[in-house]
Parts: sequence; structure tokens; C-alpha cells
Amino acid sequence: MTDRRRQLPSVDRLLRDAEVETLLRTVPRAAVVTAAREAIAAARTRRAGPEDWAAEIRERLSERRRPSLHPVLNATGVVLHTNLGRAPLAEAAIRAITAVAAGYSNLELDLGTGRRGSRSEHCRALLARAAGAEDALVVNNAAGALVLALNAVAAGREVLISRGELIEIGGSFRIPDIMARSGARLREVGTTNRTHLDDYQRALHPDVAAILTVHRSNFEQRGFVASPEPAALAALAARAGVPYLHDVGSGLLADLSLWGLTSEPRVLDAVAAGAGLVLFSGDKLLGGPQAGCLVGTNALVARCRGNPLARALRADKLTLAALEATLAVYEDPATAVREIPVLRMLTLTQDELAAAAARLAGHCPSALRAELQPGQSAVGGGSFPGAVLPTTLVALDAGTLGPDGLSLRLRLGDPAVVARVGGRRLLLDPRTLPEAAGLAVGRALEQALQA
Ligand SMILES: *Cc1c(COP(=O)(O)O)cnc(C)c1O
Repeated sequence: MTDRRRQLPSVDRLLRDAEVETLLRTVPRAAVVTAAREAIAAARTRRAGPEDWAAEIRERLSERRRPSLHPVLNATGVVLHTNLGRAPLAEAAIRAITAVAAGYSNLELDLGTGRRGSRSEHCRALLARAAGAEDALVVNNAAGALVLALNAVAAGREVLISRGELIEIGGSFRIPDIMARSGARLREVGTTNRTHLDDYQRALHPDVAAILTVHRSNFEQRGFVASPEPAALAALAARAGVPYLHDVGSGLLADLSLWGLTSEPRVLDAVAAGAGLVLFSGDKLLGGPQAGCLVGTNALVARCRGNPLARALRADKLTLAALEATLAVYEDPATAVREIPVLRMLTLTQDELAAAAARLAGHCPSALRAELQPGQSAVGGGSFPGAVLPTTLVALDAGTLGPDGLSLRLRLGDPAVVARVGGRRLLLDPRTLPEAAGLAVGRALEQALQA
């Protein structure tokens, strides 16, 4: 043992320190003892004690009080960032969650009869109307919705899918694996780049239970490519007497063509093209909570609702409250674009972004020599993969810390800020920051420079 390590205080001695004794008046003794032990252990590894033991213990206690899951300021400009929790919710959705979370609710009680009701009633009419479909069902997420739909419609039988759609959507979500787990047998048709209606037609035989289209949501295919229109596939499926299922992925309900965002399939169009079931996420372009939405014909949605997996995948009351409130905002399209944060962020004008960047730069410490530069934001979440969203970035000179060093300190700060690194600069994109966050970002930068 080195001399310095022998000099480390004991827990008992630290607890007798006057400042630590004050802490003990407000913090449980066990928590202070743990923090003191950790401080000593850290000092042993570092081979040096902190200058101020009481401050070190206080710091460790406040770290502990901070929940593992906490808010982050997103300065990346990626609107639907899966690692940052995808869609921030509309005010109306937050109010609905708060109202339902605080007490009891009529989640599964029919208040008219006093008898047992169904949780799947709550978003049913609104979602069906928004999608232009006969019926609707909400489950935990879109991957779950796909498993449920395939199990309900095609367990033990074959489902036709184009080879160009056997895609990986994220981490552990690959379409062939999902299909296998659903109990349906995958039957590939066509080729990676080109699949024709004929390919589906030739593969149809009595053991085929459905035709499935999965939107290639996180990449673009260009060049010598072809795939049949959904309406043509729906007609073929109808002639064969099997359902046509369409996983559109991101759940675009709004019309964003005015803003040049046209490459993503709209839910309404997919339903109108004749799909028996259309599946999508609640927390991508729809801008609501994590959820899996199934919309379609009465018969097919009823089959899904009655399937035991629907119980295993059911949505909770907070999700249903938030989704219902979000869908209600869509009843007026102009309000939706203004009040649903994802739509608002995607439709900010270049002037608005330039002004926001200038205000944000004004909050940055002068040592970082903030400059404005043109750049691009991203839709993210596997939506509009090729879309270009011009923005104005605040570029910071991180000095000796370097952009990665400053970026690390910002992530570990309170509030945590997630930024982008571009070359030698740290980049902040105002598109994904709340307007009121400028001050907080400025302070976080100040702290990061001092840390
Ligand atoms: C994102 C996505 C999913 C998965 O949605 P989750 O809600 O994350 O489960 C499924 N299919 C497609 C095409 C997607 O883009």
C-alpha cells in the first residue's frame, strides 16, 4: 500500500466531519454511508483523495437522486431519434397522461352499464377515422402489431413477401425473424431490386394465407428497381381471397407535401389502396407515444383483437391516453402541424431556423466563439431516409477540450445535452431544441467548460 492510500479516511471519520454531519440531518444515514464508501473506493483507485470530501459526498448523493431515465436536450437535429425516445409529445397528450396517471380511470369499465368494458375502445373510433379505415386496434409497438397480424392471419401457413423487403429495421428487428416468431412461413418472391406482380401471382397457391408489403423505411433503393403498387397487390390478394397486409412503418397521417416531404407512404393512402390491414408505429411521424397501430377491415381487425397475443401485447393506459389526445389534435390538420412537435419541427422554415440559431448562439459562452453555418437536419427513425432538411447550425470551437471532449461533458451534464460533432467543431442544430432551451444549453456549456 502506498503512503497516500494509507492516508485515506475511514467512513466513520468522514461521518464525523462537520459538513457531512449537516448532510445527515436531511439525507438518510444509509445513503450518506454508501456515498462515503464510494468516495473512499474511488480515491483508492485514483490513488488520491478529493480536495473536499464533503463536496465529493454531496456530489455522489445528488447523482444518486437523479433517475437513470431523465430528460435530454436534443441538439442533433435528428427529429425522430430512437435512442432519444423518438417523438416528444404534444401538450394535449401530456395533459391526458397526467390526468389518467394521477388516479383511477374507466380503462376497462363501461360507465353506461357499469359492466366490464374494453381498453381497446378508447382510441378505436378516432384512429379508424384518421386512417379512413373501418376499424382499429392499438398494441404496444409496431413490431408487436406485425407479429400479432401475421399470427392472427397466417399462423402455420405461408405469407408472400418480396425479397427486397426482407429488411432489418433496427437492433434485433429483422422481418424474417419476426415472421418466423409469428408462426407464419415466409415465402420470398422476386429479387432484391425488382419484384413484379407476376412473381406474386406465380407464388399463389392454396397454402398462401396473406401477401405482405413492408415499407423499406430506413434506406432508399435507386436505379434498376421495381415493385408493384399497393393497389395492384391488394387487387391480386382480393382475387386470391387472401388478406393484403401493409406495414407502412412510420404512421404518417398528415399531408407534408407542402413541405416537400412526399416519399413516405401515408396511412390514408395505404388504406385507400385496399390493404386489409395497415400497421404503423405511434411514436414516429404520427408524433404520439410508443404504440403499434393496426387499422383495416372489420373482419381482420376483429381477428387480431380476438387473438391471445393481443392480450400479451396490449397498450397501457398512459399510452392510450396520450394516443387518443394526439389523434384528437389531427382532427384539424393545421392545428396538427402547429401542435404536434414532430410535425412542427419538420415544417420549420429556414428563416425560423436561422433566427433560432442566432438566439441559441447568443446564449453560448463567448470562449466557444459560436458561428452560424448552413447544414442539414434529419428526419430519423427510419422515415423519409433521403429527405434533405436544410437548417442553420451553431458551430462551436471546443478549444483544448476538442469537440469530442466537450460533447462528452455535455452528455454527462445536467441537463444532458446531445450534440453533433462535425470536423473540429461541436454543432448544435436548433431544429430539435425547444425554443425555451437556449438558456439551459448556454448554462450546460458553461458548466462543461468548468468541469
Ligand atoms: C419502425 C418500423 C417498425 C417497428 O416499429 P416499432 O414501433 O419500433 O416496433 C416496423 N416496421 C417498419 C417498416 C418500421 O419502419
